[in-house]
Parts: sequence; structure tokens; C-alpha cells
Amino acid sequence: MTKDWTSLLAPRLEAIRARMEAACRRAGRSPGEVTLVAVSKRKPPEAIRAAYELGCRDFGENYGQEFRDKARALQDLPGLRWHFVGPLQRNKVKYVVGKTVLLHAVDSEPVIREIQKRASRLGHVQEVLVEVNLSGEATKAGIPPGELDSLLDTFAETPNVRCVGLMTMPPASALGEAARPYFVRLRELLERTRKKPRRNVELHHLSMGMTSDFDVAIEEGATLIRVGTALFGPRD
Ligand SMILES: *Cc1c(COP(=O)(O)O)cnc(C)c1O
Repeated sequence: MTKDWTSLLAPRLEAIRARMEAACRRAGRSPGEVTLVAVSKRKPPEAIRAAYELGCRDFGENYGQEFRDKARALQDLPGLRWHFVGPLQRNKVKYVVGKTVLLHAVDSEPVIREIQKRASRLGHVQEVLVEVNLSGEATKAGIPPGELDSLLDTFAETPNVRCVGLMTMPPASALGEAARPYFVRLRELLERTRKKPRRNVELHHLSMGMTSDFDVAIEEGATLIRVGTALFGPRD
């Protein structure tokens, strides 16, 4: 039997929107300042299609080939915006440049240079976020905050890659309220870093907050929240 994604997703989406609005209200922010990126990794195209019909326009994927196949299957949906939220290795860059509105997890100079190469061939400017590792966990993706300044200087030499903000993932153990210090630190880092003008760097966006903590992230200034489980359910 095929799943009735629409009736499954409709009440969940309503609950997410209510949580978003409540968090905006608490923070004195306008709901229009926060974009819900529906993270659809490992979920079928029909689930994405149902969320689209319910009004979602921004979708996040994590894996290069999976993204390529789903983008192909859903190319008939006008105005759908793809985000690539997964860690980006050089060999994955070819799947995403020019096909996504934003790459959320760029964290090295070789990757930025590969994006430049691909984007310039397409005559395209690719917008990206730099992922910052604020937890100090060695296995985590993202650059240490101390290396952010020098990584941002790279963009002066990559006219086809523009950095528009920062992204972070708190440690998996920091659920809900426990994630707040990481969100505060990312916001402070963005405010501090954007005082220095740099070519091709305009730090507007904070991509932070997932199913367990997106309300907290909104209170701390998130402009993009990346929500998977609360919308699509647990991933097998
Ligand atoms: C999977 C994933 C998410 C969504 O996580 P949920 O807890 O399911 O909301 C968000 N961001 C990134 C980078 C992810 O890989």
C-alpha cells in the first residue's frame, strides 16, 4: 500500500509552523525572517511532493547521488528550492553546483575552489554557508572558529562563490535547551566577523536548529532551520 503522505504531513507541518511562530513571538521577530528547510534525506520523492503541495518550497538533501536523482524526479515542481545541507566533499561538488540555492556545510578551501571551478564553467554564482564546529569534537565536520577569518578571505579569489552566512550543528547530545549556547556562539561569531568587509562575503544567514531545538535556534537568531524528523518522521 502506498503511504498517504499528505494526511501524514499536514498536521506535522501545522505543528512546526505553530512552534516557529511561537518562537518568533517570544523573540520579537517576524515569522517572515525564518525559512523552514524541510530535510528530506532518505525519504522518497512522493513525500517531498506532498510537502510541496502543502506549501513547503525549501528542501534539504545530504547525499550527492540521492539529491541528483530526486531533483530529476521532481523537476516539474516550479519554485522548489534545493538546499544541500550535508557535508560536502570535493567529489560531490559536481552534483550540487548550479542546482541548489544554497550549500550549507562548506568547510574547506579545496571545496570552495572546486565550487568556483564548476560555477564559473556554468556562468553561475553559487551561494554557500560556512559550517563552524563549535563543539570541538574531532570527528565533527566544520571549521574551528579560529580558522573562520582566514577561510573567509578565500572568497576574495572566487568570484563565482559567495558566502552568505554561517551554519552549525551542536553535538548530538545537546538536545533542546542544551543547544542554546552553541546558537548564541554562532550568532556572536557572525556579528563579530561581519564587521570586517570582505569581497564576496555578506553574512546574513544563520543556519541552525533541527527537530529537537529549532525553537531555541529561532530565539537566538536563526534565519534557516533544517527540520527532518518533525516533518517526515524518523529515518530508517
Ligand atoms: C538530518 C539533518 C537535519 C535534520 O535533522 P532532524 O533532527 O531530523 O530534524 C538537519 N541538518 C543536517 C545537516 C542534517 O544532516
